[in-house]
Amino acid sequence: MASSFTPADPSGLHPETLLVQGGIARSPYGETSEALYLTQGFVYDSAEACEARFKGEDPGFVYSRYGNPTTAMFESRMALLEGAEAARATASGMAAVHAALLCQLRSGDHVVAGRALFGSCRWILEDFLPRFQIETTLVDGTDLDAWRDAVRPNTKLFFLESPTNPTLDLVDIAGVAALARAAGARLVVDNVFATPLLQKPLDLGADIVIYSATKHIDGQGRCLGGVVLASEKFITDHLQTFLRQTGPSISPFNAWVMLKGLETLGLRVERQQASAATLADQIAGADKIEKVLYPFRDDHPQVALARRQMRGGGTLVTFVVAGGKDGAFRFANALRLIRISNNLGDAKSLLTHPATTTHQRFTPEARGEMGISDGLVRLSVGLEHPDDLIADIRQALAKV
Ligand SMILES: *Cc1c(COP(=O)(O)O)cnc(C)c1O
Repeated sequence: MASSFTPADPSGLHPETLLVQGGIARSPYGETSEALYLTQGFVYDSAEACEARFKGEDPGFVYSRYGNPTTAMFESRMALLEGAEAARATASGMAAVHAALLCQLRSGDHVVAGRALFGSCRWILEDFLPRFQIETTLVDGTDLDAWRDAVRPNTKLFFLESPTNPTLDLVDIAGVAALARAAGARLVVDNVFATPLLQKPLDLGADIVIYSATKHIDGQGRCLGGVVLASEKFITDHLQTFLRQTGPSISPFNAWVMLKGLETLGLRVERQQASAATLADQIAGADKIEKVLYPFRDDHPQVALARRQMRGGGTLVTFVVAGGKDGAFRFANALRLIRISNNLGDAKSLLTHPATTTHQRFTPEARGEMGISDGLVRLSVGLEHPDDLIADIRQALAKV
């Protein structure tokens, strides 16, 4: 079926072009926009045609838990953008993480993962997988020796996120990929913070890339979604059957929203990133700001690695407000444009206080180890004019 997806020869096309044109399969009506196939199932012209479809001799669709034309367009566009052989969409980012891990792990396996992970990913590794006798060693992701030392004979999987949430530390993806290969393990990268445009984990040696499409891919705060990208072989051997039988399918409607989100992803990420970089520079050294963390700033401890493995510093800026929790809360409450939220990647600028939200379940000591002080806030920079955002931050800082 892939042959009916446009463009016929995507090689050499730029990401900007693939974001708009990639993966379209037009119906006989020749619609301009991607069609929304809001259907659970499909009908067949004859019993013989139905039999052939079920035998896999005819590659058409059977049931939307298995595949759907709108979802397939989203998957195809994502695969072209990532440079992956294949992609599968899921109902949320966590459905993607869960499926990517569970489809390949079994009792007795061991996982090595960077400690700084999205909270629900840590729950899967620390609280859920042990029920099935799958153990995880959490390491300081920035320390390659720690990854190497954690390997056991039964290590099957390495898992990381970079830049990390919320401190924007970097993990050397190529370095970890080499260690995973030497250990005979696969490397899974949660690439949400970097987006498909700023970092290419597969090119750096990763085997599987995961997105929460809920973030920049929708980018307008509407739908949940997830994607897993990998080789055709991995999808066929492991993921495909797992998804079909367990059913974390994305709604075709949400897949359609994601397709439309991808059309503007390049413009949005470019603009949000430019604003984030400007804003980081403008607030660094300001009164009441103790520290600014942004991967492409010269004072970021891993700026050389950031410039090596990323194409830009990203759309998030993290900083420490003077006065601990009290200072951070006064600051957050005084903001007028920037809203308080735990989400990110949105067209609207959103501020998070990790110590009392995403990371509240950790002890103060554990948060300290992760560099999450009580005054630390994470700002997801949106599409507003950067001068307005900076003015908002300045007037809020004056109230700290
Ligand atoms: C949001 C997020 C997820 C989970 O995605 P959902 O769509 O909310 O399920 C996983 N990893 C990272 C890094 C995220 O930011």
